[in-house]
Amino acid sequence: MAKAATAGPSQGSTGWQAARVAMPGLPGAACHSRTCDTSCPDCLRSYGNARRHALLDWRLALDLLELTTGQPLTTSRSLPSEDKWIESAAKALHSSPTIIHGVPAIVTSDNCVLLTHPLWRQEPAHFDPVQLAAVEEAEAQHRRVRLHDIRAFRRNPISIWDYLSRS
Ligand SMILES: [Zn+2]
Repeated sequence: MAKAATAGPSQGSTGWQAARVAMPGLPGAACHSRTCDTSCPDCLRSYGNARRHALLDWRLALDLLELTTGQPLTTSRSLPSEDKWIESAAKALHSSPTIIHGVPAIVTSDNCVLLTHPLWRQEPAHFDPVQLAAVEEAEAQHRRVRLHDIRAFRRNPISIWDYLSRS
């Protein structure tokens, strides 16, 4: 991690480049997202951190690297425009996946759950501009709109069932 801290914006590094400095064996982000959901032995898991494997998330690690090196947050890493697991989860929840102003959402005719970036705050006064636009668009289309951390949804899709099933 000490090397990542020295790879600042003046060196033109991205979060992924900083991560590659910190973890030389790390494969490319786009490629890695196809095989690794949150963490694996190829990115963050080791024997030494075995007790924390369930908490490790390479996307969140890269987000934090970007922020600590003064770079803008790449929200698309955590907010995919399309992903098979979101489609499957929506189907299992008798709902539909959609994208609202760049933010993935799970919707029924009345209810909408916007799947937000793990580092976005949930209080309206602190909404990210993209988050605010998505909320406004969702409120124009659905009776009830709720925000839910996409990382929490990834780990436990059933967590939004109660909200989606309201009529
Ligand atoms: Zn991995």
